[in-house]
Amino acid sequence: MANDMSEAIYPWQHEDWDRLQRLRDRLPHAILFHGAQGIGKVGFAEQFAQSVLCESPAKVGFACGSCASCGWFLQYGHPDYRRVRPEILDIDNMEDEGESEEGATKKSASSKTPSKEIRIEQVRSLAGFMNVSTHRSGLRVVLLYPAEALNSASANALLKTLEEPPPGTLFILVSHRPDRLLPTILSRCRKFPMSLPSPEDALAWLNDNEVSDAAQWLALHGGAPLAALMAAEDESAGDRELLLGLLAKPDAAQVLTVAERLQKTPIPLLVAWQQRWLYDLFSLKLSGRVRYYPQHQPRLKAIADRLSADQLQQALRDANNRRAVADHSLSARLFIEDMLLAYLSLFG
Ligand SMILES: [Zn+2]
Repeated sequence: MANDMSEAIYPWQHEDWDRLQRLRDRLPHAILFHGAQGIGKVGFAEQFAQSVLCESPAKVGFACGSCASCGWFLQYGHPDYRRVRPEILDIDNMEDEGESEEGATKKSASSKTPSKEIRIEQVRSLAGFMNVSTHRSGLRVVLLYPAEALNSASANALLKTLEEPPPGTLFILVSHRPDRLLPTILSRCRKFPMSLPSPEDALAWLNDNEVSDAAQWLALHGGAPLAALMAAEDESAGDRELLLGLLAKPDAAQVLTVAERLQKTPIPLLVAWQQRWLYDLFSLKLSGRVRYYPQHQPRLKAIADRLSADQLQQALRDANNRRAVADHSLSARLFIEDMLLAYLSLFG
């Protein structure tokens, strides 16, 4: 993993990344990544933040992924890094658990509706962070997104900070609506436009992610691949939950019904969902963590307890083989039945 950090950004972002490297020698106080929604700006900004804090970045500027600084960063525990975003994003991203710094906002989130705005308290709380000396590289980084979620109070508080930038602090703002930002904030930021991927790159990536009708989804979302993927996944969520329901409660009596109901769903997608399920079971067993289906953690746990690591490894291998033939299946129903029965056989 440490060897190929180029996968830390999306395939269409490499030119942007190379262009960004020219800023490294003289980092601005604040930089604004802007561009269409759903092209991966936040992930790109996070990789930049990590690489700025990294103790031994690679020549092309990627974070090494293995130094102490990278370790803290990846666990959301870097002492010189703060992420500021609306509360609602913490609720949506359940897999981001374990963020100690945001414990306070989480507590309040449980008692009332999570805010869609970046509140003034969040911006004010940066003052303490910026007043203590840095732990490692002498630099601290604040990532704030989406910047259009600043309300007028928090925008003004941020502006005050940007007007008198604390030494050694890099502000990274991300926005797909820079027209909604205060002009005075805009003028304090080095603007960095991010490119829309070429249709070829976007389609290739969507195909890798098992999106059927990729071209149609992409067109609907203005060429933004992440937005297209999310929409496609939302639409197929019902089918996915039907499949996961059976995987979570293995019942031979349900196999025929489920296979019939899913026969119109693209087979590679079904195989991918099952692979992710198996991967989560395996990972839960080995490391106690789930990656793809955090919302199903209790059900995954119950199933993982019934199977051995060896069984799961074998099931993953079978699923990979199944994926290789998924495109050539003559009957969708038979294929699905076969796949489900093989899974059920794990339970004896
Ligand atoms: Zn590193």
